[in-house]
Parts: sequence; C-alpha cells; structure tokens
Amino acid sequence: SIPLGFFGGIGGASRRGVLIKGGNYLEALARTEVVVFDKTGTLTEGKFAVSAVYPAGGGRLDPAQNDPAAASLLERAACAEVYSNHPISQSIRAAYGKQPDETRVTDVTEAGGHGVSAQVDGKLVLAGNRRLMAEHKIDAPEIPEAGTVVYLAEEGRYLGAIVIADRVKPDAKRAIADLKAAGVKKTVMLTGDADAVAQAVARELGLDEAHAELLPGDKVDQVERLLDGKSAKGKLAFVGDGINDAPVLARADIGIAMGALGSDAAIEAADVVLMTDEPSRIATAMRISRRTLRIVK
Ligand code: ADP
Ligand code: MG
Repeated sequence: SIPLGFFGGIGGASRRGVLIKGGNYLEALARTEVVVFDKTGTLTEGKFAVSAVYPAGGGRLDPAQNDPAAASLLERAACAEVYSNHPISQSIRAAYGKQPDETRVTDVTEAGGHGVSAQVDGKLVLAGNRRLMAEHKIDAPEIPEAGTVVYLAEEGRYLGAIVIADRVKPDAKRAIADLKAAGVKKTVMLTGDADAVAQAVARELGLDEAHAELLPGDKVDQVERLLDGKSAKGKLAFVGDGINDAPVLARADIGIAMGALGSDAAIEAADVVLMTDEPSRIATAMRISRRTLRIVK
C-alpha cells in the first residue's frame, strides 16, 4: 500500500506543474543522483529560427532578404521536411512561409540523428547533417557560423546549407544549479546535434558532461554507462521530449517528459511529466519528494 503522506507529495507536485505517476517515482525522485537531459526541446527551446542560408555557389544570405537562391533552397528543404515533426522541420517550414504542396513529395524516410530523404518532383532530396551527407558520399563544407546546420542535396549534388539557431530556455541555467543544490551529483546532456553546439550549451549551463553526435541507440548506451557508474541506492532520471529519445526515457529509473512540447507517446511512456516544459520544475519535484519522504542528503 502507498503511505498516505505520498498523496500529499504527489498533490503538492501537481500543483507546481509536475505530474508524478505513482508513489514509487516520488521515492525515486527523492533519491536522484544523476540527471541526464536531452538537448533539443528540453534544455533549449526547440524553436529554431533560420538565421542564414549558404547556397552551394558561395556566400551567406539572410533569409529575410528574399533572395531567389535562398528561397529555392528553403523550398526544397520545406518539401523534404513536410511530414517531419522535428523542431528543425518546423523552423524550415516557417522560414519558407508557405505550405509545401504535399503531392510533389513521395518516398519520405526520416532517420533519427541524420535527417530526412524524400523524392521531391521525382528527384531525391536529402536534408540533414554531415553524417547523412557522408552516407550518400556528398561533400559538405564546414559552415563558418554557430548553430545547427542542415545540409541539402539533390540527386547526389550538394545544393547548400541552412543554419538554424536555437536558444537555451530562460530557466535552464537555474535548473542545473538547483539540481546541484538539491544533492544531484552529476548532470549530463546527450544530443544528436554537432559537438560545437553541444559544448557551447554545456558551458553556458554548467553541465558536468555533454556527449554529442549520438544516434538514438548511442543515447541508450550512454544511459547504461551512467547507470553502472552510480551508487546502488541512487537513481538516474532522464529528461526528454520523446523525439528521438523514447528508448532512453524507458531505460532510465525515472523517465521525465516535457508535457507541452512532448509527443503523446512520450507523455504516456514517462513516469513524470513536466506540464510547463520548464526544466527547473525537476528540482522543485525533488524537493517536494524529499520533504515527503523526509530524506536528508
Ligand atoms: P537532440 O538529441 O538534440 O534532441 P536529435 O537526436 O533529435 O537531437 O537530432 C540530432 C540531429 O539529427 C539534428 O541536430 C540534425 O542534425 C539531425 N536531424 C534529425 N532530424 C532531422 C530533420 N527532420 N531534418 C534535418 N535534420 C535532422
Ligand atoms: Mg530530441
């Protein structure tokens, strides 16, 4: 049976925007030793905006300039991304500004940690990172600008790149500091994004570890390594939005999903749901759990 006091703790947490799906998770939260975060949509807004377009011909274009070369790259990308739910896809479609004609798009494949490939007007269009380009033996240049770079190719030919910038959530830095103050020993970020982007975010937030360029399966391996490294009593929490990280949400002692941004499947699979998508709520929930269980660090 569940001790009566647990209901008070679960109720208190829910009033502060954290849904805890059972007394066992309340107890686990109180014992959290390691907190692992997904980056995009979890520590960052996941609301990317296109900051620059680099056509293969050379030069940097501002998307607001309405240059035909930029418009044509954005159009190809928006078509290829038309069925994707990834925050990257939403930002590219927003910059394109129109609803792409879906009848022009067939044979769409989306590979987690890579990007998408699709037939657009009967031509094979690729939109994704360097790894996707490398798999198709397409040379993708280094882009001299901070941000997540989406490379584009058509029929094996490099077309150009779109740079999109995300920003860290306003409360993310405090969230990490509060977790440390609440007794968490290690904070870690796992991401499929490029290492330069990951290291910049990790430095800004004061994370203990950041691992980049991970495929969904690599994230599971990292969580398993961290599970092995912690104390027997301590618990590991993973916080994500469910996009490309559902397997890790399931593997962690406590799977925490972003409620507003997260996919329905992630909310269903999670043990704890943050209704406001604010990472700082995790420390709040931990403090309530500790108080409920009267665990002192
Ligand atoms: P994170 O781990 O930060 O949440 P993801 O695993 O969702 O990131 O994605 C990792 C990387 O894979 C992205 O930074 C991007 O380079 C590429 N990618 C994933 N999905 C897409 C997409 N729909 N379009 C373009 N690139 C994508
Ligand atoms: Mg993600």
